[in-house]
Order: sequence, then C-alpha cells, then structure tokens
Amino acid sequence: MEPPNYSSTSSTSSDSETLLNDSLRVSVLSEALPYIQKFSGKRIVIKYGGAAMVQGNLQEAVLRDIALLSSVGVQPVVVHGGGPEINYWLKQLGMTTQFRDGLRVTDEKTMDIVEMVLVGRVNKQIVSGINKLGALSVGLSGIDGCLIKARPFDNGSHGLVGEVAKVNIDILEPLLSQGYVPVISSVAASEEGKSHNINADTVAGELSAALGAEKLILLTDTPGILRDKNNPSSLIRQLRLSEARQLIKDGIVEGGMTPKTECCIRALAQGVEAAHIINGKVPHALLLEVFTDMGIGTMVIGSG
Ligand code: ADP
Ligand code: MG
Repeated sequence: MEPPNYSSTSSTSSDSETLLNDSLRVSVLSEALPYIQKFSGKRIVIKYGGAAMVQGNLQEAVLRDIALLSSVGVQPVVVHGGGPEINYWLKQLGMTTQFRDGLRVTDEKTMDIVEMVLVGRVNKQIVSGINKLGALSVGLSGIDGCLIKARPFDNGSHGLVGEVAKVNIDILEPLLSQGYVPVISSVAASEEGKSHNINADTVAGELSAALGAEKLILLTDTPGILRDKNNPSSLIRQLRLSEARQLIKDGIVEGGMTPKTECCIRALAQGVEAAHIINGKVPHALLLEVFTDMGIGTMVIGSG
C-alpha cells in the first residue's frame, strides 16, 4: 500500500530518504542539547596531533568541530603537536631523529627545527583555519606570558626534551573570557630561557588541570587504548585510574600511548573529571565525544 501523501507534490523515495536523513539530523541535534547546556561556559582542553593533523580534509573537520564548540559557548583550548610535519622538515634537511620512550631525542639543531615548525608554521595554520571558520583564535607557545616553564626531562637524558615545571594560566584567562580559542604549541623555555620540546600530551594534561577543565580530549591515530595495539577491535572503552596505571606497568600501553595515558592519570588526579583518548581519523570525533550519549574512544575516569 502506498503511504498517504500529505504534501501537494508527489512523494518520491529520495524525498523520504531526505526526510529520514533530516529527522536523523534533528534527533542528533536534540541529543546534543543537554551536553551543550552542561559544557557551555566550561573549558575543554583538546590535544590535536597525529593522523588527524596530516590529512587535509580531516584537519578541516577537526577545526570545524572546534569552531562549533566555541560558537555554542564551550571554551576549547587547543594544544597541538606536529610530529609528522617536524619529521618532514628534518628529512628535507637531511637530519635524522630518534625516539626513546615515545619521546623525540632533541639536540640543539633539532630543537631549532621543532620550534620553527611548531610555533611558526603548524600553530599559525591551526589559528588561521579556526579564524577562517568564523571563530576567533590566538596562537601561543608555552613561552608566551610564561604560560609553561620547562625543566629538562630526566636530567637532560633526551637532550632538549622538557617536562612541565610550572604552569601560569594568567595569559589565557582574558582570552577565554573574550571568546578567543587559544591554540598552544608545546615549546617552552627553561629558567635559563632555553627552548625545550615538551610532549604535547603532557602539556595538554597539565593545562587541563591548571584550567580546571571539564574534560581533556586527546585526538590520536588509534581508536583509543587497545588491549592489543595491533587489534583495533580490542578497544578499552572505560578505564579507572588504577587500571590505567596497571596497563603501563604491564607494557600493554607503550610508545606514544605512554605519555597520553600518564597525562590522563595526572589530569584526573588533579581534579579533571574525565579524560578521553579518541580517534582523530573518525570525522567529527570531537563532536561525537562531547555531544553524544555513547561518546567514542577510551574514557579514563577518576574514581579508583
Ligand atoms: P600522536 O601523534 O597522536 O601523539 P603517537 O604515535 O605518539 O600519536 O601515539 C599513538 C601510538 O601509540 C599509536 O599509533 C600506537 O602505535 C601506540 N600504542 C602503544 N600502545 C598502544 C595501545 N595499548 N593502544 C593503542 N595504541 C598504542
Ligand atoms: Mg605522541
């Protein structure tokens, strides 16, 4: 039997598909309402790096999500890495690089390139991308306003790799209260004024704690923390602090996932409510995480 036609024009299957799509769209929007209300006026720190940063169309999608968050009153703070772009420029210059414990061993020459690429290029690309989408963004590094003070990581065993010695968010407050989206590259100066390269996950974690953020979201190139890192279907959806610590001890979490998991643990221990490791390769992963009931990726929670 034909469905009744209430419209003056005749209905086609593409009309009903459009209707279905439209009703799906509005139901998704409607599902977002309590989350928009919950997070409006609140801070969400987003670490942006990995694969989501390399592919142009994904980059656009991530920046759109950030602009959308900002326009519904959420206060996103973006911390970015730029590993692939640093690797590209090091290669162009015939320089090699070595990773130890998931961190780039950084000599003086490498540090020059890291600083030029992250602060000069990647940061400005993100800022300009967000501005283009109609939100207002300002780019900073840890050096600006003494936002982050660095100290050598593990007594300098990795060269100019730093860890966070101190955070001073004074520079961020007026920006956030005026609706700017701060975009921060993870380079910071030591007490002696020497630039250090700090893992961007670590910077995001410390900033989320200092800002009293609602959420810390780390975008990366895997579905989240995997029980078997070669099997994407072994995703761990939810994890308590103590379980996260155990995964590091057991070597299930290793390489680049170690600083991520560690910074989630530190952020939660300092009062951030939830930390998420999600797949930046999934289009609009950020919106899926913030605005849907299911969320995506791995959520690390404080209790326990
Ligand atoms: P990003 O550029 O996003 O910081 P990294 O390469 O530093 O990405 O860290 C993510 C990588 O961590 C993954 O691509 C994966 O190779 C590695 N990894 C190690 N252990 C795990 C695990 N248990 N689950 C998922 N990924 C893991
Ligand atoms: Mg990394």
